Order: sequence, then C-alpha cells, then structure tokens
Amino acid sequence: MSTAEIFDAVDIIRVKRDKGILSPEQIDWTIDAYTRGIIADEQMSALNMAILLNGMNREEISRWTAAMIASGERMDFSSLRTPAGGVKATADKHSTGGVGDKITLPLAPLVAVFGVAVPQLSGRGLGHTGGTLDKLESIPGWRAALSNEEMLAQLQDVGAVICAAGTGLAPADKKLYALRDVTGTVEAIPLIASSIMSKKIAEGTGALVLDVKVGSGAFMKNLADARELARTMVDLGTDAGVNTVALVTDMDTPLGLTAGNAIEVEESVEVLAGGGPADVVELTVKLAEEMLAAAGVTDADPAAALKDGRAMDVWNRMIEAQGGDPRAVLPVAKESEVIVAQQDGVVTKMDAMSVGVAAWRLGAGRARKEDIVQAGAGVRMHAKPGDTVKKGEPIYTLLTDTPEKFARAQEALEGSFAIEASGNYQPTALILDRISR
Ligand code: URA
Repeated sequence: MSTAEIFDAVDIIRVKRDKGILSPEQIDWTIDAYTRGIIADEQMSALNMAILLNGMNREEISRWTAAMIASGERMDFSSLRTPAGGVKATADKHSTGGVGDKITLPLAPLVAVFGVAVPQLSGRGLGHTGGTLDKLESIPGWRAALSNEEMLAQLQDVGAVICAAGTGLAPADKKLYALRDVTGTVEAIPLIASSIMSKKIAEGTGALVLDVKVGSGAFMKNLADARELARTMVDLGTDAGVNTVALVTDMDTPLGLTAGNAIEVEESVEVLAGGGPADVVELTVKLAEEMLAAAGVTDADPAAALKDGRAMDVWNRMIEAQGGDPRAVLPVAKESEVIVAQQDGVVTKMDAMSVGVAAWRLGAGRARKEDIVQAGAGVRMHAKPGDTVKKGEPIYTLLTDTPEKFARAQEALEGSFAIEASGNYQPTALILDRISR
C-alpha cells in the first residue's frame, strides 16, 4: 500500500465482516482505490462476500452507487430537441435478466413512436440469460458499438438506439462485476442495485423503468428479494433525479416461444408486426406505458402502434441507422432436434432456468466473455403452461450448428416441463407488482 493512501483495505473488510457500517469516506476510497488497482482482487472479493452476507444500509448503497458513477463519465441528452424546439424527454428500461427476454427489441422503437427518445445501453449475455446485443448481432451488418456523437445523432433522427455501453461509463462497475461473476457474489442486493443504477444514472436518462425478474430463471428466486431489489433501485434512481418505476415480473417460465439469438429477433419482429406471443406483447405494452408515463406522456396507445405499423417503421430505421438490413434473412441453425410430449394433457410447467441453460449449451450463450455465440442456436418452445398437447406433439425444437451439443442440452431439459392429464393448471400473473416512490 502506498503511504499516501488514507485507509487500509483490510480495515474496511473487517468493518463489513463484523457487520459494521462503512463511512462515506471509506466507501469513496474503496471504489477509487479498487479502480486504481490499490485494492487487490482478493481483498475486493472478501469485501464483496462480506457485503453479500451482512448487507449495506440505504446510505451505504447510495454512496457506493455515487462513487461508481464518479469513476467515469456522465452522458448528457439535454441537446435533444422536439420538433417544437423543446428538450426531448428520454426514457430507458432495464431488465435484471431472464430467459427469452427479448422485450427491449420491440419496446425501444415502440416508445420512440410517441416522441420520447430511448437511449438503450445494453449488454451481452453471460451464462443462461441472453444478451440483447448478441440477439441484434444476428441481423446482417448490424453494429453494436456507437460513439457518443453517433448515439446522440440517432436519438435525434430516429428516436431509439440500442447499443453497447461505452467503456467510459462507470468503469469501477465493469471491474467489480467481472470479479463478482467469478467469486459467487453477483446475487448481493446492494451490489446488484448499485451496479445497475450507477450505469443508468451515469447514462443520463430522464425516466427509467426497471423490470425486476423473479423466479427460477432470474437472479432473484423469491418475491420478497425481488421487491427489496426493486425498492432499493427505485430509491436510488429517484434520489438521483431519475423518474424511476419498477415492475416485478415472473421469470419461472421463459418469455415467449423462443430462447436464443436470431429466433428471438424473429419473434420480436412478429410483435412489431402486430402478432407474436401474448406474454411478450403484454409486457412490451405495459413497459411502454410505464416508460411513456414516467416521461410525461399519458395519452399514448402503444398497443395500437404495434398493430398499425408505426413501431415497425421506427424499428426498420433504427436497425438501418446501425448498418443492419432489417429485411435480411436471419441465420438459421444447421441442425435441429425435437423433444415431444410423452402423454396427452395440459402443460402445467416450463422451467425458465432449464430452457436458458439448454439454449446456452446449444451455443446461443457464452461460458466465458471471449466465447463466440451462434446466431441460429437456441430453443423453440411449441407449447407453454396452459396449452393442451397430444402425445407425440413437439414441445421443444433444439437448434445448433454443432450437433455434439444436443446431448447436454437435452440433459438440461430433463424434467423441465410437466404435462398433467386434466385441468390442474393454475395460471400465474406475469406482472406481479409495481413499485414506485
Ligand atoms: N446486471 C448488472 O448490470 N449488474 C448486476 O450486478 C447484475 C445484473
């Protein structure tokens, strides 16, 4: 340790290990010293684990988030103008991640239809949850990396951008998240909340809607934890002047009928064409209403804009602006295998985690950051809970370019769905709670 350092990492670890409260100065120093490489990864890992086990109070989380924001640049959308010359409102959405969660794709252009700009900074998938950028990269020519100037120009002209977050935004979080990922400390509510909100606040959006997932395919496995995460993030956003609302939504069952990359783009385009699976449409419309309301637009009808082609027009322009061809044929997996129903009945369960792991093992996701994903890989679902099926009808189609991957994907899907002879199925709500200040 340099003699100029004002704290010692070991003392800070001991405070949290012993269930103490870190002072604002200790938190500022911790984030700054870790970013500068003064605190070693093994020390930060110990501190993360102490936070996971012993928690943080409101003030600590808020300071931790502010310190992560201060580690990098802040974006500014105040130069965006409405046709009348006023400042254009901005709204963003963040999902805590799930299986088949392609909602950002139809949602960003849908909200832009109503004159609210959507600066959607997205990520790549890691593990069983897919990444928005991986999905969009299956569109020939589409480019995820935009400069801040390109992003602003597209927000002004088209109204919606989905692109990769630049390296300048909350660099402390990038380093910390990579460490948490390999040390079993992702699931700490203070760390998830500060990680997500530091990026969203630094991004400079005026309004933010959080989709906090709960269930087998989500970080949060029970409703109480999901509500606590949602409440923590809503408070952080509101305190920072971002109009923030959270929906807590089900992730026991995958969203829609596809989990993968190109196949999720295809399903999103169906929604933009006024069709698509009911759950994807319901969540897209609900999140659009929340984003528009948070941005001050209360008289919009997002469902109508999906039906009449206005959202599709913005989608086409958004994809073209980033070099993609929205009419291009999407990549198709070379090999497929079908899993069929073994009996007649009603599907009563389809486990999100199992489907996510299968899609990942088929090549749709990556195990390490440097892995390349297969555009055509994934799982198509042919029935969802509540649907009636007959023996021999398809339940899943597994898709991959590399057939040696089928066996492990099938293993992941063993026991992932249930068919019961008669009506034991109790539908569960997709949207479980709404949390605002
Ligand atoms: N997504 C993030 O950006 N950070 C987390 O900690 C978890 C999910």
